[in-house]
Amino acid sequence: MRDRNLKVMQPLINIGTAGHVDHGKTTLVEALTGIWAARHSEELKRGITLKLGYADTAIYKCPNCSPPQAYYTENTAPSNLTCKYCGSKLEYIRRVSFVDVPGHEMLMAVMLAGAALMDGVIFVIDASQPCPQPQTREHFMALTIIGARKIIFVQNKIDIVSKDEAKKNYEQILKFIEGTWAEGAPIIPSSALHGVNLDVIIWAMEELMPNPQRDPAKHPLMLVARSFDVNLPGTPVEKLKGGVLGGTIMQGKFKIGDEIEIRPGARIEERGKVRYEPLFTEIVSLRSGRFELEEAYPGGLIGIGTKLDPSLTKSDALIGNVVGKPGTLPPVRDELLLEVRLLERVVGTREMKKVEPIRKGEALVINVGTAVSIGAVTHVGKDEAEIKLKIPIAAYEGARVAISRQVEGRWRLIGYGFIKS
Ligand code: GDP
Ligand code: 5GP
Repeated sequence: MRDRNLKVMQPLINIGTAGHVDHGKTTLVEALTGIWAARHSEELKRGITLKLGYADTAIYKCPNCSPPQAYYTENTAPSNLTCKYCGSKLEYIRRVSFVDVPGHEMLMAVMLAGAALMDGVIFVIDASQPCPQPQTREHFMALTIIGARKIIFVQNKIDIVSKDEAKKNYEQILKFIEGTWAEGAPIIPSSALHGVNLDVIIWAMEELMPNPQRDPAKHPLMLVARSFDVNLPGTPVEKLKGGVLGGTIMQGKFKIGDEIEIRPGARIEERGKVRYEPLFTEIVSLRSGRFELEEAYPGGLIGIGTKLDPSLTKSDALIGNVVGKPGTLPPVRDELLLEVRLLERVVGTREMKKVEPIRKGEALVINVGTAVSIGAVTHVGKDEAEIKLKIPIAAYEGARVAISRQVEGRWRLIGYGFIKS
């Protein structure tokens, strides 16, 4: 299907979910979109690569009812797209895309990659548990570090708590966000499982998270969150499709026929030595969900079909790469000098251990955009550290980097930094 009304069919905003594991993020995305976006826990059990979930939906409004009842998604509206309360024909507002991140403590690196793609955040908190839980704190810190500013809290699972318990939990959430950038954000009691207050959540999204204004004249840049070989096994060579890159466009626009560069590119191993080589190719197709596009903009998961050998893109091999016009991409770095800001506490641990200073020789995980790399610290100075990376990343000077270290056997967020050189 090729739609001429491109801007309407492609979501122009990514709304992320965040929160502790099992608090109901994926259930909420399913309630809003009809799509079970994440399979993180199954993926974890099966030990396969962890992916970000994306799920798109359209938002509709009743022209005659007042908010919140007026608000629907494709999934919450009756199938004939008329209002449940007054029968009026619903008006199409826009498409939105949800990025669902895992809440499991082992998956902070995936959460951070997802957070880099979010224009707004729905933060899910389980009303039946004391707030904050460790990954409530750690996800909130990750969003703070990444610079998120638009947030809605959903106090989920109110179906299993008493009114008094719900009130107590609500007070805990208020206290948790007091004095932070999120103070004053709406806290919406809900049951994702039973569809309670979904209209209020949609209304809040419409009020607080308009499609961001972007400058289409900026040179295009996409962060790769997935990559695929879309050919079924046994496809004859002449019918093979080139590699597909999935990700979110951060700025500018891409169109069919554009020449693109991908950095750091392909991993090449020769005589025991590994190097990365930028890839150059042409865009042959663009997709957003089920829609074929001729031009693609920031928002949602865009699939870029290329002429690359699909073996280069299979099994998410190019996650963390950046895509742009040849010669416009940030430099590839395998050494980073960082200006470092450590957190006071390891917020992701139950006991909130103190963050110890960075030590020479220790291993750190760093996240920049959707790229994750591990490296060894080669130098420590006042508020700075130098890291030799195992996997290179493409990033601008000044880029913000999240820093994690192993604490009690798990990678925990301990601070952030800026690339000095
Ligand atoms: P996530 O890890 O935050 O994505 O959480 P999930 O969406 O996977 O939900 C975790 C569990 O909580 C699942 O068993 C859900 O069915 C359940 N759950 C989610 N939302 C609600 C709710 O509103 N009420 C109740 N009772 N259970 C819920
Ligand atoms: P699958 O392998 O599940 O069919 O597709 C994986 C991803 O690649 C999906 O996001 C899908 O939309 C995208 N995709 C599959 N085929 C094509 C194609 O021919 N062109 C583009 N641009 N994307 C594709």
